[in-house]
Amino acid sequence: MARYRDSVCRLCRREGTKLFLKGHRCLTDKCAIEKRNFAPGQHGKSRRPKLVGYGLQLREKQKVRRLYGILEDQFRAYFEKAARMKGVTGENLLAMLERRLDNVVYRLSMAVSRAEARQLVRHGHILVAGRKVNIPSYQVALGQEIAVKEKSRQIVPILRALDLAGGRAVPPWLQLDRENAKGRMVSLPRREDVNFPIQEQMIVELYSK
Ligand code: SF4
Repeated sequence: MARYRDSVCRLCRREGTKLFLKGHRCLTDKCAIEKRNFAPGQHGKSRRPKLVGYGLQLREKQKVRRLYGILEDQFRAYFEKAARMKGVTGENLLAMLERRLDNVVYRLSMAVSRAEARQLVRHGHILVAGRKVNIPSYQVALGQEIAVKEKSRQIVPILRALDLAGGRAVPPWLQLDRENAKGRMVSLPRREDVNFPIQEQMIVELYSK
């Protein structure tokens, strides 16, 4: 499966904002946005162009896509599914992104970044309702329990993530049992639970052209 292999800090610099793709490092002064907040590439240091219309919509879509670590085709498929669902398309889209298993593992502080969460899922360390699920895009359902496999509880990334997670709030739609390295989805994610600044309407406008 295709995946992005270049420096992830370049993505933050392109979007001009922290996307928190590297875990603890993002909170330190080693963060590339703290040290060199200009676009990557030869002309990066020239002033960022003032964006309007399509340019703004495109950047907003790219920002969200990169935040959740999703490639273009899959992101568009999410949008099309969101558009077919009842309710507000932009909110449906964000809810589906939040309910991805890799995002839930990250939100439950079992990983320091979504990329690390995805790797834990792929390597079979995560159980959903007692069964191994190794598909990062799996949509977690209301009431399902997400747990780290018993044998995997001592692996370093999980211990480190749970340790570092003291300062990271678990969203109200999830419940974490830190001691037993497990959690549960207790309600569906609502728009106000997405605490990253996102203007989803712009994504809807971009894809609706
Ligand atoms: Fe982005 Fe984190 Fe890199 Fe900072 S350290 S630029 S927030 S990925």
